[in-house]
Amino acid sequence: MSDHSEQELSEAAAQAEALIVPGRACGTCGMCCKIPKIEVLEKPSGKWCVNAVAGKGCKIYETRPMVCRRFMCLWLQDANISAEWKPDKSKMYLSLELSGERLAAHVDPATPGAWLKQPYYDDLKRWAVQAARNETQVSVFIGRHAIVITPERDIDLGMVGEDELIISTKEKQGDRFVLGAEKIKRDDLERHQKQWAAARSRAAMPKL
Ligand code: SF4
Ligand code: SF4
Repeated sequence: MSDHSEQELSEAAAQAEALIVPGRACGTCGMCCKIPKIEVLEKPSGKWCVNAVAGKGCKIYETRPMVCRRFMCLWLQDANISAEWKPDKSKMYLSLELSGERLAAHVDPATPGAWLKQPYYDDLKRWAVQAARNETQVSVFIGRHAIVITPERDIDLGMVGEDELIISTKEKQGDRFVLGAEKIKRDDLERHQKQWAAARSRAAMPKL
């Protein structure tokens, strides 16, 4: 039984549809019905939803839950992302997460190396250069296996637990700083934030 009224459900679907780039459509894709974990459906990541019908779509489309109505991958919303990125072709879907702080590529675990193929890898690297300028992050996820893409390198963080977060760092290499990333326990975030604030205020203090 849904916690949302019919009106809320249809408004959510209409809002999501309004974001679609003209000429693009899900068609028979359905990768977002396979790749992510969907708690409300008790669907594990990397397994097809029990409601997905190959080549046809969702068999409960009219009553699908709110999470499905709201979801819209980035390829559908951004005309600057090439046709090659259609998720059933690329075998991954893109999404903006953490209020736009992270561009994530969620890869089908059946094809874990899909992100290393072209044009995908070069696009991810190009976006990582833009992200570094904006202090945001580009990451690849294969289930809970996370790889953070920076302009200089790909940082394999291994499995990231549900009680963990990925944070960006800066590391000194020779006479310059390069972007890094590490995983921390969610409970440790406050302590890290205090350390960053202290480091920033020290850096901002005039030298006497
Ligand atoms: S991954 Fe994107 S294109 Fe594919 S079905 Fe989901 S929203 Fe549609
Ligand atoms: S309920 Fe339908 S739209 Fe939602 S994940 Fe399952 S098949 Fe996809």
